[in-house]
Amino acid sequence: MTKKQKKILIRLIVSAVLFVAGLFIHGEMAEMILFMTSYLVIGWDIVWKAMRNIAHGQIFDENFLMAVATIGAVILGEYPEAAEVMFFYQVGELFQSYAVGKSRRSISELMDIRPDYANIEKDNQLVQVDPEDVAVGDIIVVKAGERIPLDGIVERGESTINTSALTGESLPRDVAAGGSVISGCVNQNGVLYVRVTKEFGESTVSKILDLVENASSKKAKAENFITKFARYYTPGVVIAAVLMAVFPPLFGWGAFSLWVPRALTFLVISCPCALLISIPLSFFGGIGGASARGILIKGSNYMEALANTETVVFDKTGTLTKGSFQVTAVHSQEMSKDKLLEIAALAESFSDHPISRSLREAYGKKIDHSRVSDAVEVTGHGVHAKVDGQQVSIGNDKLMEQIGAQCHACHKTGTIVHVAVEGKYVGHIVISDEVKPDSEKAIQELKRQGIRNMVMLTGDSAPVGRAVAQELGIQQVYTDLLPEDKTHRVEELLKEKSKKGQLVFVGDGINDAPVLSRADIGIAMGGMGSDAAIEAADIVLMDDQPSKIATAISISKKTLRIVRENIAIALGVKASMLLLVTFGLASMQGAIFSDVGVMVIAVLNAMRALNTKGM
Ligand code: ADP
Ligand code: MG
Repeated sequence: MTKKQKKILIRLIVSAVLFVAGLFIHGEMAEMILFMTSYLVIGWDIVWKAMRNIAHGQIFDENFLMAVATIGAVILGEYPEAAEVMFFYQVGELFQSYAVGKSRRSISELMDIRPDYANIEKDNQLVQVDPEDVAVGDIIVVKAGERIPLDGIVERGESTINTSALTGESLPRDVAAGGSVISGCVNQNGVLYVRVTKEFGESTVSKILDLVENASSKKAKAENFITKFARYYTPGVVIAAVLMAVFPPLFGWGAFSLWVPRALTFLVISCPCALLISIPLSFFGGIGGASARGILIKGSNYMEALANTETVVFDKTGTLTKGSFQVTAVHSQEMSKDKLLEIAALAESFSDHPISRSLREAYGKKIDHSRVSDAVEVTGHGVHAKVDGQQVSIGNDKLMEQIGAQCHACHKTGTIVHVAVEGKYVGHIVISDEVKPDSEKAIQELKRQGIRNMVMLTGDSAPVGRAVAQELGIQQVYTDLLPEDKTHRVEELLKEKSKKGQLVFVGDGINDAPVLSRADIGIAMGGMGSDAAIEAADIVLMDDQPSKIATAISISKKTLRIVRENIAIALGVKASMLLLVTFGLASMQGAIFSDVGVMVIAVLNAMRALNTKGM
């Protein structure tokens, strides 16, 4: 409990004691004094807030409703009523703030990835410093069992790291000198000396925390609806209450003494607290629950949209396939195979493309960067670079066509990487990628969830693209696409879908940022390490598993279901109570009690959204 909550609790107890004393004491004056002090102890701040808001021109809020209703009761001489109403209202408020605090805490516990310190070696001693004070290039020491505080590259040491805090999956990964490590992961056994590559503010952990903390500022339609609703609703009920107090007596249907208390009760019940609090809380819970599964959703609006997914468009390389290509053949009439691979690896040495990474890996030796200069990447085509002073071009047939090199066809299936030196064709390397073991399950689960259209887009050649699509059971495939063609294709698909249905694009974040932002919802894979992906996407999957798309959709459906349930419960109970009061069938205490009850139910229901285990 926070200090503020404790204070309210103490006030509740004092107020209750005074109230009970009032019930047992004799004498009208003494009773009034006790009930009124009980009322003031528990209600003074509400009345004060209501007056302050009126001074600021914001009249119609819940404080106003409570103040008017209870002061009205006091004027009518119903002192115990006034005290009781305030008492239960504050019980509700206390419960609500406790529940909100608790769910926020459990989310931050789930997201307990913020590192408290980094170890730095100074005069042969380890000192703990604030991760924010560590500069790029510094060496930090991560002992076994500690959380890695900053992104970096291992200089010395070997260990296994656990990525579960980021991905929700406990997948141990071995790292050694030269390997990169990401903040937020836990070092399991050895000591690691890590050269920091990013400041704390730019680190993976900071990015993720920012993202989750800001997620609730992007409001879902359901939340905006509530805000708008409250704008008309509150003045509406105030007017209704006034009419209720004045008209029936004027027309001779009962006295003022009957209708004025009814109107006041009407005002008290009309406060839509449960609705106001439980809907953002449900979204917040859903976002927190998703992040515990390694799914980062950047806003309630995306959560809401995801539940209406109709079309899922996949990028191939790195999304459905591993993006780690194996070299299956090297063909050259001009030079040795080793020489061709060396030129290729050198020319690609500045690129982040999965193909480049795989070629460097196949080459296996350390790259001497001084041999390479003037590297330019042509997205969707390949790379030009100077290697040992000679102009090397490496990429697909489109690139060869551009520079006028005559490329040879290859009988092997796979992605063909052609190489030209000084504009002259020298040979090609055949590489092939593997489908991720999880991709097939992903497609099947999406089909089971009733996603009607699944489409694969790729810059790769038709034989490769078709083979992958067929293996996975995807009907629609478009191949040989440049990044801009992918955007056009997605725009076409956006026109074809229904109005309510949403189009999701899933990519690996490498050269597909424009498509990610063009789609209704952009999902990037492998948030671990790729900044571009984290920034361009609306949803980031921390691990590389496409099946998490289906998980995200079911989490969003569950969250939306909870939101709808809460709206229905809150409005339903509210409407029936208002009716009961109008016909004099419910008392003010009953009204308040039902309000607190609805709030408790709605908040507990909202917290169910947090539970995403086994989804
Ligand atoms: P995908 O749509 O499968 O992700 P890309 O748009 O990244 O593919 O690339 C399309 C094609 O362009 C690749 O299949 C490859 O032939 C060629 N290409 C792109 N970048 C490179 C590179 N760095 N090196 C060699 N070839 C490349
Ligand atoms: Mg790609």
